[in-house]
Amino acid sequence: MKDSKKLGVNSICVHVGEVKDEQFKGAISPMYMSTSYAFDQVDVKRYPRYFNTPNQEALRRKIAALEHTEDALIFSSGMAAISTTLLAFLKKGDHILIQQVIYGGTYNFIAKEFEKYGIEYSYTASDKFEDFEPLLKPNTKIIYIETPSNPLLGITDIKATADLAKRKGIITMIDNTFASPINQTPADFGIDIMIHSATKYMGGHSDISAGAVATSKEFIELIWETAINLGGNLSDFTVWMLERSLKTLNLRVKEQTKNAQVLAEYLEGNLSIKKVYYPGLKSHPKHTIAASQMHGFGAMMSFELKEGIDAMEFQNSLQFIKPSLSLAGVESTILSPAQTTHALLSEEERLERGISDRLIRFSVGIEEPEDLIADIEQALLKIKKGHV
Ligand SMILES: *Cc1c(COP(=O)(O)O)cnc(C)c1O
Repeated sequence: MKDSKKLGVNSICVHVGEVKDEQFKGAISPMYMSTSYAFDQVDVKRYPRYFNTPNQEALRRKIAALEHTEDALIFSSGMAAISTTLLAFLKKGDHILIQQVIYGGTYNFIAKEFEKYGIEYSYTASDKFEDFEPLLKPNTKIIYIETPSNPLLGITDIKATADLAKRKGIITMIDNTFASPINQTPADFGIDIMIHSATKYMGGHSDISAGAVATSKEFIELIWETAINLGGNLSDFTVWMLERSLKTLNLRVKEQTKNAQVLAEYLEGNLSIKKVYYPGLKSHPKHTIAASQMHGFGAMMSFELKEGIDAMEFQNSLQFIKPSLSLAGVESTILSPAQTTHALLSEEERLERGISDRLIRFSVGIEEPEDLIADIEQALLKIKKGHV
């Protein structure tokens, strides 16, 4: 086959990293469920927790090709990928600089575990990269960013962050989950390590829990040494499911992204909506930066309902847009951050973070945009008439 770097993205999704069916010449990858392999070659000890079963090895190539990196590893969850990678690089006395707004689970992991290991950390005051440099210390080993971020779709300047880190000899890590490799390939701008919750767009059907890290061969080797000790590998059945899902990654995400732009523009023009947060809108303060670093603006957005419209009433009035804690499936889902992900904060703390009780996070699916708009219209009408 052609060098995977020269293949189109759909061809990578379908063909790179297949396990060849030498025996029956089937069209798809056979599933190797063995947890025990003959020890007959001195240099290959195959075992699921060594991340080198046939299905894992193949899928690692597909994810690396999608992220424009040399190699990748697949984990049992996004958090397994994040925690393993951070612990592989950080030791006692090291410092990590983290962007202000990151995924809640990552925030909790750092808050709960880092002190135990004597790892220092600080958060930036905003997602403006100008705020990053003054917080760097002589012992800063990693800068960690997440863009677009949850739930207000903040945008961090990827290239400026990578350039700053390179000047200082610091490793950069990005949580690329919200964009997916279809809408953003941060390695092109010099980011060292890309992390995914493959539970989201990579899986895409709300039926797989998985994670991935994509980076250089040298870094994968280093992460692997910690990974085999922490043991967060994915079962080969789910590896196979993930390969199947990734074949349509580009088709799904492209369609979802197209729908999201239509929905964002519709919502911005709707009198019942106070504000829409979507990097594809000109009104987004970082629209230009987003346009310079994303191939598409993604399918996640948030919007704030006008005063007097209750978020829960809105959620309960929708017919097929489902309330859901997770995101990125082919089905459209919504979530009220104030009632769920940010429920433990006080109202004041939430407002400080720009999260009003009327904020709705919207994960746009592949349904026809007219149908999604009709669902929102009928929900708003029902609330206006007081028929909820
Ligand atoms: C869901 C999510 C994670 C965590 O992934 P899990 O698969 O749930 O462990 C990390 N980062 C982001 C941005 C996420 O949305």
